[in-house]
Amino acid sequence: MKPLQMVDTQSQYQKIKSEVDKAVLEVMESSAFINGKPVKTFSDNLAAYLDVQHVIPCANGTDALQIALMALDLQPGDEVITPSFTFIATTEVIALLRLTPVFVEVDAKTFCIDPEAIERAITPKTKAIVPVHLYGQSANMEAIMKIAEKHHLYVVEDNAQAIGCSFHFADGSSKKTGTIGHIGCTSFYPSKNLGAFGDGGALFTNDGALAEKLRMIANHGQQRRYYHDMVGCNSRLDTIQAAILNIKLQHLDAYCQARQQVAAYYDKAFAQTDKIITPHKADNTDHVYHQYTILLNGVDRDGFKEKLDATGVPSMIYYPVPAHKQGMFKQFGVGDLELPVTTYLTERVLSLPIHTEMDNEQLEFITKSVLSVL
Ligand SMILES: *Cc1c(COP(=O)(O)O)cnc(C)c1O
Repeated sequence: MKPLQMVDTQSQYQKIKSEVDKAVLEVMESSAFINGKPVKTFSDNLAAYLDVQHVIPCANGTDALQIALMALDLQPGDEVITPSFTFIATTEVIALLRLTPVFVEVDAKTFCIDPEAIERAITPKTKAIVPVHLYGQSANMEAIMKIAEKHHLYVVEDNAQAIGCSFHFADGSSKKTGTIGHIGCTSFYPSKNLGAFGDGGALFTNDGALAEKLRMIANHGQQRRYYHDMVGCNSRLDTIQAAILNIKLQHLDAYCQARQQVAAYYDKAFAQTDKIITPHKADNTDHVYHQYTILLNGVDRDGFKEKLDATGVPSMIYYPVPAHKQGMFKQFGVGDLELPVTTYLTERVLSLPIHTEMDNEQLEFITKSVLSVL
């Protein structure tokens, strides 16, 4: 049996090796390491794939979130509503920019930000909402955009885990996640669904003026070289990474399907036990399964994980500590905030291996191991 891993970027590479090697060598031959042609080609191809007007490449997903918030002309102390149950990057950039993170609850089934909790948290200082499409399915963007419109708030989507996912509106139309709010952000971290061979990220928007600003911020606040009109940063996608991503983008839908097949196998295998609550897929969204995250029901999670480890099946806890309980947010006095769903999830979630290269032999072994140590 192939070794069991949370992700298997090596086997994935082997399947596209000749194409990737050729593209990387071409960049090296050209020596256009910074802003070479593949950066523009990839951005254009990604814009076409997402059906969005502007794609602004940058250095990583965290930078994308930071640049997005920098473009909104917010003032220190302005409030940004975000889920506490997320990867730290979502919330960290809010504090970094001296804005105030307002942590709200997630939906108990989808694990994504709860629109009703957003509405309850709005104050005169609220300026933006940062929903996260956690584990690969969309937050309820229809409800979130309605709230944002009503209260004149910006929406910055954290799409780092859901690239390729579509949200389905009540009128029957669909949009790719990351293209629904004012700005969408993504990460090309190697283990993400569209992963580079190093760091990378991008921003998406349909607003031309915002796009121009995002581009300037990512480039030292300049449009014309050496004329810096605003405070920016230096955040670029490497040409080599863009060349690789351009090849992998062609496989993104197939990668999503491979993940969905793994999820379907797990769903079926775990249907026989009520000790495992399998991921809930909401009707208004696809699920591209960046993670396959189960809830352990009446089982000691940490003991279970240890026993599962002993069988050779890796698993991870995303995330053991909610953002509002992290030391970095002490200054905001949010440690005692009661977010019962978030707490419930951090105590019971467990993510199983899911990636594009899993075979039935591995899946059979994993599901049998899981069921036997339950
Ligand atoms: C990975 C991730 C990020 C950050 O992306 P990097 O490229 O690692 O900076 C942000 N938000 C979420 C939800 C993520 O999963």
